[in-house]
Parts: sequence; C-alpha cells; structure tokens
Amino acid sequence: MEEYFIYINLDGFGKYYFDLLYDPFQSLPYISYLIKEGIYFENAYTGVPSITFPMQCAILSGTYSVGTHNCYQYWDGKLNQIVYQGRQNDAETLGEVLRKQEIGFISIQQFALEDRGAEKGNKKYLYIQPSGDYETRFDLLIQLIQDHRLAIGGESYSYLELPHIMCLYIDDLDAIGHNKERYKTENKRIEAVQRRLIQIDEKLGEVIEALKEKGIYDKTYILLTTDHGMVSFKGMSYVGRLIKAIKRLGFNKVIACNTLKEDENFDVLITSTGIECQIYFKELPSDLETIRQRLKQETYIEQILIKDEFKINGITEQMGDMIISPKEGKHFNVEYRYIPILMASHDSLNEKAQHIFSVLKGPNLKKRYTYEKRVKNIDFIPTIAYLLGLPSLKNATGTLLLDLLEERRFYEEGR
Ligand SMILES: [Zn+2]
Repeated sequence: MEEYFIYINLDGFGKYYFDLLYDPFQSLPYISYLIKEGIYFENAYTGVPSITFPMQCAILSGTYSVGTHNCYQYWDGKLNQIVYQGRQNDAETLGEVLRKQEIGFISIQQFALEDRGAEKGNKKYLYIQPSGDYETRFDLLIQLIQDHRLAIGGESYSYLELPHIMCLYIDDLDAIGHNKERYKTENKRIEAVQRRLIQIDEKLGEVIEALKEKGIYDKTYILLTTDHGMVSFKGMSYVGRLIKAIKRLGFNKVIACNTLKEDENFDVLITSTGIECQIYFKELPSDLETIRQRLKQETYIEQILIKDEFKINGITEQMGDMIISPKEGKHFNVEYRYIPILMASHDSLNEKAQHIFSVLKGPNLKKRYTYEKRVKNIDFIPTIAYLLGLPSLKNATGTLLLDLLEERRFYEEGR
C-alpha cells in the first residue's frame, strides 16, 4: 500500500459548534486547512440511535444497526427484558479487513476496533488505551509519525516502517458537550466545547506538520468525522404526558421504564435512552401512520419514526415500533422525571444531534470542494477502503462516494 490513512473521530462533534464560531477559518486554522485541501461535507449525518457505541461501531463497519444489530437497547419479547448491547457489532470492521490482508495498523483508543482486528499487546495490530484527554492521545499519534515509536505505560513499540493505517479516538468534545462543567446557559456550554475544539485544532496542526516533515502528507488520507452531535435539555420529563397521549388513543396499560419485571405486562412499553424514546406495542396496530399523526399534535414532540421507515434509515427492527423524539430542550427520561440543571446528550432526532461535522482530504480526491449532497457517516470507511484498494467490508451498506475523486482519476477508473 502506497498511501496512508489517518482516521480521527472527535466524539460529539455536532456541525453547529463549527458553524457558530465567529470566524471558524481563523479560530480553527488546521481544520480549515483540511477543508481547503480536501472535501468538506456540508450535509453529513449520523444514524439512529445517535449514541456512541452503536455509531462508533457503525462507522467502522460501514453499516448501521441493520448490519451491526446494535441499537443500544431493545426489548426482548421472549425474555420480557430490556437488553443493553454495549459494543455488540455483528458486522465486519475495517480492522478485521486489514488483519485478513495482513496490513498492520494502530488504534489509539478507537475502541470499536478493540478485539475487532486490533488488540492490546499485539504490535502489528495494536490497540492501546491511554485514557487522559486529547493531548495525551494526539501526542502518541505525533510520536508515532515522528519516531515510528509508541511508548505508553511500561510498554514501548517500535516500527521499522510507519504503519499505514492509524486510528485516533478523542472524546473531549463529548464530555464537555454533555455539560459536565455545569454551565447555566446553552451559549456557555457551546462556548466551552468550542474552546476545546480550538485546542484540538492546534494538535491536529502538529499531526499535519509531522506528516509533512516525513514527506508523506500528500500520500495521506485524513478523515475527521464523528458519531453524533449534542442537544441540551432541562426540566420535567415529558414521558408522563406521552403516556396520557397514548392512552387517549385507546391503549390501556402503558408503562415507561428501562427495567422490566419478569412477569410485567403491558399494552405499550416506552423505554428511553434519556432524550428520545422507543415504543413497543404488544400487538402491532395495523395503522401506525394514523397513530403518528395523532401523536404529532402533541406540542412537545418534534419527530416520530415508524417501523415502516426503519429499513430505509438502516435501523434494525429490534429497535421497536416507533421512535419518538422531543423538541430541543425537552426529554423523555424515564429514570429522572425532573432535571433541575442544563444537561445535554445526543440520543435525539433533532438536527443538533444528527447533523455532524466531517472533512476528508487525500491523494486523488477533489480539493477545495464543498460536498452539498447528504452523506452518512457510514459512507466514509467503505469509500476509504475502496480508495486504498482493500476488499469491501462484508456487511457495509454505506454508499461509495466515488464522486469525491478528482475528475481525472474518476475517468481513468472508467466510472
Ligand atoms: Zn459519542
């Protein structure tokens, strides 16, 4: 393999953090540099549920839960239990493709590759988990590029040749975005995320400089993307109002919880990941569309997805019969019925959670190009695999974005 590929995932990088900067091109010189050097995706979106584990797995397998089978949690009718899925991923990962091809790679805390192609202590297919913040993790990547060496804890790995594939996972934007610093207003929360983004941008600059010094920058694909954005909420849970609204449609026993008793019975089950909720009908009504239209009259509801639309959105059937997402600021939490402080999370169909930041630059790709068509974050890895001449990922459903190629290359490939 001639080229290099660096995959950087900045967990929780909603596009609006970038858009709301006073002057993004001045505040973020290196991200802006990548935009100028490559392709900026104006309409990149994540999938459903937009939650870290399912989406990180999805990106690296090029398919959402229809392929990974991970929708974070689902109701298992046989066990009458709500099952949590952790890092479950039933689809092939990029790491597994690389390993089959005997192409070494490094994963710096990109946990969706841990034991899915990479593992701790395995120099050729290495997974390391340094923890700490963006600086620690970026420094490891920079050291690797500069010295072909990774030193972490008591371990040290040296490489004769720089591995051609390097993955980096950073979760500062997510942690700050959740408002762990307890800012009182949405603006202050956003500004705190943006401050960290500016610091991350400096480190990205060091990566770019290191690649240039090594003379491999022009041969390197750099993908910067994310698993979801973030939307804030506060105050009372609207799950009580939702229960009443569903009862008014003629259902008797409507319950809302995340843990079920073994013999618990219901006509309708509402389970929630914090903001949005999943609805399971004991007996599936014949006309979900009518139910949606009735529920949409509720003022706190922003969007409803019904089962018939799951497939086209890449969502596994297990996720329920309906997904209901509230308007910004509101939530369907079933554990905390009242939230006194401003919080934020991302399991939401709201634009702030779904619309993500993404940029890609690389050899043979268009430059200074703004890609306006809607893309999904599961399109990127299958596209990169294609560009690197790798076999396609077995379960990928993402679209190959061949129109990213420079026109010359596009015609040479006869497409
Ligand atoms: Zn995340």
